[in-house]
Amino acid sequence: MGSLGVAIGVSWGMSNASMEIRLRHAEMHIHKPAEPATATVVKNEACTAGKKAAGFVRHIELDLSGTGLAGKCIPGQSLGILAPGVDGNGRPHKPRLYSLASPTRGEDGHGAVHALTVKRLIDENPADNSLFLGVASNYLCGLGVGSKVQVSGPSGKRFVLPVDAGAHDFVFIATGTGIAPFRGMLMDLFAGGYKGEITLIMGSPYATDLLYHGQLAQLAQEHANFHYRTAISREANAPHGKMYVQDRLAAEWPVLESQFASGRALVYICGIAGMELGVFQQLARALGPGVLEQYLELDPEAAGNIDGWTRAMIHRQVRPTRRVFLEVYA
Ligand SMILES: Cc1cc2nc3c(=O)[nH]c(=O)nc-3n(C[C@H](O)[C@H](O)[C@H](O)COP(=O)(O)OP(=O)(O)OC[C@H]3O[C@@H](n4cnc5c(N)ncnc54)[C@H](O)[C@@H]3O)c2cc1C
Repeated sequence: MGSLGVAIGVSWGMSNASMEIRLRHAEMHIHKPAEPATATVVKNEACTAGKKAAGFVRHIELDLSGTGLAGKCIPGQSLGILAPGVDGNGRPHKPRLYSLASPTRGEDGHGAVHALTVKRLIDENPADNSLFLGVASNYLCGLGVGSKVQVSGPSGKRFVLPVDAGAHDFVFIATGTGIAPFRGMLMDLFAGGYKGEITLIMGSPYATDLLYHGQLAQLAQEHANFHYRTAISREANAPHGKMYVQDRLAAEWPVLESQFASGRALVYICGIAGMELGVFQQLARALGPGVLEQYLELDPEAAGNIDGWTRAMIHRQVRPTRRVFLEVYA
């Protein structure tokens, strides 16, 4: 393993034996929760496509200047946010992780200002009908410009781009705030003159909940090799009807098939826990023998009953290979 990246050995059939995917080097835990950095909010704005979005999601930019985090964060990593106050046991709140939404150069061009994409957790307590507000998400979303925030991190080194990005095509699949790392990765790829094919499938319940929609549509206009596709699950998507991300994957298959068959495709999945099940089922249905094993290793029982898969089988009977990158959260 070199100093440039995390080397992951991948081996499959005779023709592609022992291909290696070297990931970008990611600095980790520069600021631990016990010694957090103090960042300053420099922007906090809605990032949903419509004013009547069902959820509240905000694009929040943090100035990390003067901290150990400046210039050290890359897309695919997360920052920890330490909300003030204590939990029900009287202990300081544990850090909550939020994916970085900015490219390596940050929002400022120097890697000092990085954005997060934060969804307010709002729920109802079934026991007494009282309103439940998630601690860190509502704290962050409510901060004004100039507010100070305690930040730890960065965390994560497995959901980053490969060093030799040009050797790959990318299939990015997001739901909700899972779009955050892909926003930064896309900017990094295009800043580096990337010439391969990128398909981004963005899932949301309603079109009004699409995040960064204007920016992504603009990027797709500027780059013919970037294919931005949406999957709206509770409204009709002409001509396809209601769609989940796996349905969009199926609809795009005539174009994507050759990217998988050639072994160039890397799949990155980020967003709501559980979304990977439908995506894996679709991959298992679409990929033929010799190619499927490059992406999913299946126990014989799972291979014989794709429709019957449950989430509990993932990582046990259905194992994504190192060509599939997964970051899902509740
Ligand atoms: C690697 C990673 C990356 C992430 N990236 C992002 C991101 O980019 N954007 C983003 O918005 N989030 C992201 N998250 C999720 C984020 O870390 C938080 O989990 C989320 O914002 C909720 O935190 P909170 O403090 O607001 O809620 P909390 O106060 O932690 O509350 C959530 C908890 O409360 C429980 N709960 C829910 N409803 C109720 C209820 N009615 N009554 C009682 N308890 C209830 C839930 O089960 C859950 O355990 C990420 C998570 C991970 C692991």
